[in-house]
Amino acid sequence: MAWSFRIATVRGIPILINITLFLIIPLFAFVFAISGPPIGFATVPNAYVYGTIAGIMIFVFVLLHELGHSLLAMRYGIEVKSITLYLIGGVSAIEIPTDPKLEFRTALIGPLVSLGLGALFLALSFAPTPTVPNLFLQNFAYINLVLGGFNILPAFPMDGGRVFRAWLASRQPYLKATHTAVQVGKVFAVAMGIVGLFISPILIIIAFFIYIAASDEERQTTITQTLAGIKVHDIMTADVATVPPSMTITQLIEVMFQSKHATYPVVDNGTLVGLISFTNVHQVPPNRRDDIMVGNVMIRNVEPVTPDDEASDVFVKLAQRRLESIPVVQGGSVVGIVTQKDVTSAMTLLGEAREQIVGPDGTLIKA
Ligand SMILES: [Zn+2]
Repeated sequence: MAWSFRIATVRGIPILINITLFLIIPLFAFVFAISGPPIGFATVPNAYVYGTIAGIMIFVFVLLHELGHSLLAMRYGIEVKSITLYLIGGVSAIEIPTDPKLEFRTALIGPLVSLGLGALFLALSFAPTPTVPNLFLQNFAYINLVLGGFNILPAFPMDGGRVFRAWLASRQPYLKATHTAVQVGKVFAVAMGIVGLFISPILIIIAFFIYIAASDEERQTTITQTLAGIKVHDIMTADVATVPPSMTITQLIEVMFQSKHATYPVVDNGTLVGLISFTNVHQVPPNRRDDIMVGNVMIRNVEPVTPDDEASDVFVKLAQRRLESIPVVQGGSVVGIVTQKDVTSAMTLLGEAREQIVGPDGTLIKA
């Protein structure tokens, strides 16, 4: 995400801070300054100074929680790209394990770290007379218990929801488990939003993010699971017409009428230099189509894929770059093109075929 910068590196994992964090620290500092124990420092002088320190410490505890996920994932050989601390918590960029046992453990460890720290600070905080260090211990216990307790809620894709999905997936098909976990997650998100109306607007924002993230991840999981094992060469259109950058738009329209494709890789001296589609042509006014060349209006910097790439990765690339199609290149020359239609029709066909194998209720119909 934009507006993040690196503050440290732990065991090779870049730790990033998103600038939205600086918006929330003063708010936490204020809440801690005006609240009494066990949350804040309203009972002692310098409450705002202590509140600010505690506000910053929240993100130290979020980081420890995330390091729990990341370091355990690394032990299982899962690649950890980075940890980013955001306005509403941390995100470890980890490849989500499809092995339910690994997802169960790597998801559960985060809340366990937080709840463990919370219990430790709570045990240390008992003192006959409240002093400033004692108020800090109470505050740290409070932060970690809330962090652990909140994340353990079975609201997919939060940690508790992942644990729930992994548990379901160990006894039923992965996609069905995901679907159930997402439905439960959405119910929790709606309930959280309603509770937020009475308690705190921050809760409404979090509920909103959970709802969106749950839907996104269900879609993503459906795609990767349905297209599992399918390569680009299985779904690409190999019969591809290419055009040179020196062709005029008028000439291109003629080619389009003849070959009936919507997108064409632009090739100069055997090398892919761009991509041109009906949308690009449409932007050129009719009276200028004789003097404007394909090279003037084509999409440049098109990153091609290879025939051996995963079909699901191409689906993601098409969506992320808002492309209608991606050229397929092997050994420097264009060997095909994958369109959104190629991927969605493969999804429909495979989806139907796999439903017949696992059945709509998740039982095995035929092997
Ligand atoms: Zn977590």
